[in-house]
Amino acid sequence: MSKRDYYEILGVDKNADDKEIKRAYRKLAKKYHPDLNPDDKESEVKFKEASEAYEVLSNSEKRQRYDQFGHQGVNGQGAGGFGGGFSGQGFDFGDIFGDVFGDIFGGGGFSNGRRRNGPRKGADIKVALDITFKEAAFGTEKKIDIKRTENCTKCNGTGAKSSSDKKTCSQCNGAGEVKQAQNTPFGQFVNVRTCPTCNGTGEIITDPCTKCNGTGTEKKTKRITINVPAGVDTGSVIPLRGEGEPGEKGGPRGDLYIYINVLPHEIFHRDGNDVVLELPITFVQAALGDEVEVPTLDGKVKYKINEGTQTGTVFRLKNKGIPSVRGYGRGDQYVKVVIEVPKNLNESQKDILRKFAEQTGETVHEQKKGFFDKVKDIFG
Ligand SMILES: [Zn+2]
Ligand SMILES: [Zn+2]
Repeated sequence: MSKRDYYEILGVDKNADDKEIKRAYRKLAKKYHPDLNPDDKESEVKFKEASEAYEVLSNSEKRQRYDQFGHQGVNGQGAGGFGGGFSGQGFDFGDIFGDVFGDIFGGGGFSNGRRRNGPRKGADIKVALDITFKEAAFGTEKKIDIKRTENCTKCNGTGAKSSSDKKTCSQCNGAGEVKQAQNTPFGQFVNVRTCPTCNGTGEIITDPCTKCNGTGTEKKTKRITINVPAGVDTGSVIPLRGEGEPGEKGGPRGDLYIYINVLPHEIFHRDGNDVVLELPITFVQAALGDEVEVPTLDGKVKYKINEGTQTGTVFRLKNKGIPSVRGYGRGDQYVKVVIEVPKNLNESQKDILRKFAEQTGETVHEQKKGFFDKVKDIFG
C-alpha cells in the first residue's frame, strides 16, 4: 500500500505553520479517536494515519527530512518504521500529543489523571483591615473574624452520622479513582478517572450527618490574630500561610491575605516613611521667635522658632518619622510653619498694629512698596 502524503492527510498546505498543523490534527483526532469511535476499524486507521502525519510534521527536524526525502526520510528505523516504534518504549505519547488530547479529554485524559484527582490546595481568603496612623507606624496586634470552611463539629468532618455509617467504596476499593485499560493502535493505555460512585473520596456514606448533610464541613467564624508589623502602609499585604479555605483530598489549606488600609490622621500625613505636619504659630511668635511644642508620633517635643521665621518654612525633626517596615531605620518628621493672621482684634490691639506700621514706615492703606517695585521689574 503506498503511503499518503502527510500534508494531504492533515489537509494542510505544504507551507502550513505549526499552529495550522496542530489545529488540523486536533480536528481529525477529535473525529477519529478510538475512544469516540469504539469498534470502528476505519476510524482507527484514519486516526493512526493522522497521528503519524502529525508526529512527523509537528517536529521541525522530521518535517524537514520528510520535505526533502518523503516517507523514506522519516521511516529510517526499519520495516515496521513508525507503526512498530509507536507502541514500544521510548515514545513519549504524552509529550507530543498531551496538549492536543488535553483539550479533547478535559486535561490529562491520557497521561496523567492523577494531577486532576490529587491533593489540591484550598482557596485563598482576602480580607481588608483598617488600622490607625499610629498603629501603622508602630505595629499592632489585631483580631479579626473571618468566615471559612471548617470541619463539621458534629461528625468531626467525616460527614457520617456515626463511624458505622461510612464504608469503603466498593467500586474503587477506597482508592478514589478507577483505572480503565484502553486499547489504541499504539498499544494499551491506562486511563485513570475519579471514581464516579464515591466522587473520589474512596468512601460511601450510608447515613449522612444531619448537621452538614454529609459534606463533613460547615462555614464557621474563626478569630484570627494578626501581628501588624511597624511601618506598614495602605496597600501593604500581610500573608498568613495556611489560614485560607481547606484543601481538597488532603491538600493544604489556602492562605489568608490581609490588605492593610491606613486611616487618615487629623494632623499627621505620611510621605513614605516621613511624617509631614503643618504647625500653626502666631505672627508674633514668628516675628519674635519662640520655643514651641511640636506634636510627634512619640509625643510632644520642644522646638525653637527663630526670630523672623516666614510662613512656609520647613524644619526637620530627625528620626521622628515612621519606622521602616523592613525593620531598620526610621523616617523624619517635616514640620511646615504656617503663620496665622490674627482675627477679631479689638480697637486697642488694632491701634498697636497701626503704631507698629507707622514705626516701620508702612502706610496701612497701601501695600508694601518694595513688593510693587519688584512686580514692576518683572512686568516692565
Ligand atoms: Zn457533619
Ligand atoms: Zn469509589
